[in-house]
Amino acid sequence: KGSAVVVEPHKVHAGIFVSRGKSEDSLATLNLVPGVSVYGEKRVQTETTDANGAPEKKEYRVWNPYRSKLAAAVVGGIDNCKVAPGAKVLYLGAASGTTVSHVSDIVGPTGIVYAVEFSHRSGRDLVEMSKRRPNIVPIVADARNPKAYRMLVGMVDCIFMDVAQPDQARILAINAKQFLKADGWFMISIKAPCIDSTIEPAVVFAAEVEKMKAEQLRPKEQITLEPFERDHAVVVGVYRP
Ligand code: SAM
Repeated sequence: KGSAVVVEPHKVHAGIFVSRGKSEDSLATLNLVPGVSVYGEKRVQTETTDANGAPEKKEYRVWNPYRSKLAAAVVGGIDNCKVAPGAKVLYLGAASGTTVSHVSDIVGPTGIVYAVEFSHRSGRDLVEMSKRRPNIVPIVADARNPKAYRMLVGMVDCIFMDVAQPDQARILAINAKQFLKADGWFMISIKAPCIDSTIEPAVVFAAEVEKMKAEQLRPKEQITLEPFERDHAVVVGVYRP
């Protein structure tokens, strides 16, 4: 057997782990479906002893911040991540489910991820992946029309949004009104060139924050995603209707 891998809980965020490598550390999540990779990501196994001294095996999936804006935000040092064990999360812009699969690991068996994606092509992969992961509810629908999926989605603790659309602040607001608990949290990734490529990204981010404030979405923190993504920011905040 090769050298043992050490995986430790992330110092700030519950449900997220750090795999200590020889040369560098990587983020990881506890694999809800051991033995299976979702998109070719690396898996690492650990063997420790539980409270009674019995051997305990666990498997983690490495989570690459170049492939996930949520992972980039965690590596970048956000203070608040409400994608946490037991949380009910509405994920808008799921694509084929790369990040959704890690969110599914993080919220775990007592949490739930409602994953919305409007592209049928990506939606097919998302639905396929969800078959092995009972805590994901895949929804192939347009996030601009939350009424279309209101029968499938309960009230949630957190909305994560990554749709890269010019009207995404409005899309976030209508979904928050429909599904987000009062004092629930939102996390939104903003790709400045998708909103206005003619002005400075910082100006775009500030304008988006103003749109959120006008919709009872109270931004609490903002970080840019360099070096993982260019001209992107993640804004995290609370919904106070
Ligand atoms: N969050 C994904 C991840 O980390 O794996 C990547 C998301 S990608 C940047 C944006 C996705 O949002 C695309 O798959 C696109 O089809 C989807 N999208 C854009 N507008 C949408 C809308 N109105 N409703 C639902 N999905 C939308």
